Amino acid sequence: AEVDRALAACVTDVPDYPQPGVLFKDITPLLADHDAFTAVVTALASAGRDDDGTVIVDKVVGMEARGFILAAPVALALGAGFVPVRKAGKLPRATHAVSYALEYGEATLEIHQDAVAPGERVLLVDDVLATGGTVAATRELVESCGGTVHAVAVLMELSFLPGRETNPGLTVAALGTV
Ligand code: IMP
Repeated sequence: AEVDRALAACVTDVPDYPQPGVLFKDITPLLADHDAFTAVVTALASAGRDDDGTVIVDKVVGMEARGFILAAPVALALGAGFVPVRKAGKLPRATHAVSYALEYGEATLEIHQDAVAPGERVLLVDDVLATGGTVAATRELVESCGGTVHAVAVLMELSFLPGRETNPGLTVAALGTV
């Protein structure tokens, strides 16, 4: 119930941002509300546990930039490590890189090659699942390190976009659907 309140009352729709025709979900009011932030972090973290509550992931990956804000406290809640996936050129040591198509143009994401060890299980965390391109690219990066993605947990899934279809076989835990 607190999660539903957090998403309904603390996420603001911003029309025509960052470009005309896009209805942007602004989560900054949710982050500023301690009870709302706590509730969503707890709920996102449950995607990293089995039915008995046992933690089943070694690392939590957050995608730049809003994914960082959510994934770091989820990692602490699970007793797991946090790993950033960043836009090109931001990580200082040897990386794996994946480029993927955006609506207009292309984006590249990177991970440190040693950020996930072979065999480790990973939970991905981001704010919004839209086309699924970001999640698909991040999954490739984790697999380049030898890790496996257990699931992706997001605050909101945009149901009119093919985020799940872009990521076949991946468990998607969405706290809300738009
Ligand atoms: P996708 O790759 O198309 O699934 O887009 C997901 C990425 O774009 C995520 O990293 C989101 O943070 C961001 N994104 C897309 N739509 C929104 C939105 O409405 N609000 C906030 N972030 C969004």
